[in-house]
Amino acid sequence: MVITHLHADHLGGLAAALGGRAVGAVALGPAHQPAWADERVHRAAAERNIPVLELRAGQQLDWPALSLRVLGPVDPANPVDPSDGTDVNNTSLVLRATAPTGTLLLTGDVELLAQASLLTSGVDLRADVLKVPHHGSRYTSPGFLAAVRPRLALVSVGAGNTYGHPNATVLDALRRAGTLVRRTDESGDVAVVASRDGPVAVARGHPRPAPRQRGRG
Ligand SMILES: [Zn+2]
Repeated sequence: MVITHLHADHLGGLAAALGGRAVGAVALGPAHQPAWADERVHRAAAERNIPVLELRAGQQLDWPALSLRVLGPVDPANPVDPSDGTDVNNTSLVLRATAPTGTLLLTGDVELLAQASLLTSGVDLRADVLKVPHHGSRYTSPGFLAAVRPRLALVSVGAGNTYGHPNATVLDALRRAGTLVRRTDESGDVAVVASRDGPVAVARGHPRPAPRQRGRG
């Protein structure tokens, strides 16, 4: 289980996600901020005897039929103000997963600064499927989307949220590039499955209500 960064909307489901599943390890990024959330994850994992791993850019994890390449955060030494939502968002782990379904870029909530660092780092960002950063917020650069060039983009977002997520300009940029966009506020949970023609999105739930917020989403 990977927790991209320590905001409540990314770890609020921790107990439920760990319950009834065999979880070999919980993985976090190098930032450990905010500290209260870092402690909460460590406590929940310790109660279940699950080890906590810290992932760093450059690492690769391999399983049969799945490999995860850690692309970011590129600049883990950047100072992080735990009360600054953008700072914490930019500590998000960014993973490129390769599976029989295709390649998937998992971006957490990276905003412009972390996206720029990824672009200048020279890593291959190209992916069949993009988990759109930060719930489709306006802080996603056209250059980042162009580097990924996904055929399928998934936006995890609560219906009726007050943040203006997802941003219309970001959605337009994706669609103009020929990307199919699926949103959890419209489709509920979305599964990505393999097909002869590449990855396909299957909606399999009910639209998501707005989550309860603690701090910035
Ligand atoms: Zn978030």
